[in-house]
Amino acid sequence: MQTQNQKVNLSILNDKGITFFIKREDLIHPLISGNKYRKLKYNILAAKAAKQDTLLTFGGAYSNHIAAVAYAGKQEGISTIGVIRGEELKDKWQKNATLLLARAHGMEFKFVSREVYRNKDAPEFKTELEKEFGHFYMLPEGGTNALAVEGCQEIITDEDASFNVITSAVGTGGTIAGIINASNNTQRVIGFPALKGGFLQEDICKFTNKRNWELQNEYHFGGYGKVSPELIQFINDFKIKTNIPLDPVYTGKMIFGLMEMIQEDCFESGTKILAIHTGGLQGIAGMNALLKKKKQPMLVIE
Ligand SMILES: *Cc1c(COP(=O)(O)O)cnc(C)c1O
Repeated sequence: MQTQNQKVNLSILNDKGITFFIKREDLIHPLISGNKYRKLKYNILAAKAAKQDTLLTFGGAYSNHIAAVAYAGKQEGISTIGVIRGEELKDKWQKNATLLLARAHGMEFKFVSREVYRNKDAPEFKTELEKEFGHFYMLPEGGTNALAVEGCQEIITDEDASFNVITSAVGTGGTIAGIINASNNTQRVIGFPALKGGFLQEDICKFTNKRNWELQNEYHFGGYGKVSPELIQFINDFKIKTNIPLDPVYTGKMIFGLMEMIQEDCFESGTKILAIHTGGLQGIAGMNALLKKKKQPMLVIE
């Protein structure tokens, strides 16, 4: 599947001599959008080939990955189990837009404490889960594994060879690893981590040998899932000016950072930039519910 590159027209781009396109991977599907579709593609084929009829995975209450797995499972006739961080959600998950939707698509939940969740990759925990649920095909948190990276390599096509710079938001690093693998060596790939932490560089190196990439660690806005009124304002403005919606957890932070880099002349005049819109728009409803509670500015929806 190939998605379109949409040209962005903003006066600052003219002023700085920058050509800027956004690859609209968010348009793949409203619920299984962007990189989560790419990451699941070969994993679902592998699950089917192994005759597994259940997918089990992990995530927080607002996870795009959880939403995507639930939907894809329903589509493919595969049962899904979500191991969800936060025991306290056991009695109130119905108030969470992402989990409600995942349940509507048939996902079964197991809510665990933050401590159990932290140790979710321990072999003993897998044994425990197998006792409870029987056999399953396990996907890690965020869906990143070698097959996911292979799927993400398909984000970049031959038509993208003319871009000098390619950018992506980064969570676990699987998506950008695929993009790096599919880039050519003269292209510069820039990742914008959506969370704090120095472990990403190493994680990405597990899935790529190439060196034409770097991370911009200045734009996590306090950490994963954290936002500021300035970021929300930026996303709302960007939508008005370009008609492109961004999500507050990943793509909003990336485009914010990229526009600041353009403003600060980090790119020579004549540079052609392609930013990957990895989707994530399903998370807006959940973020708005949180912002409303805190009486902070919310994201504008259609
Ligand atoms: C999960 C996600 C990412 C990060 O992908 P990783 O492969 O975990 O780095 C980026 N953007 C969106 C919208 C996502 O949902």
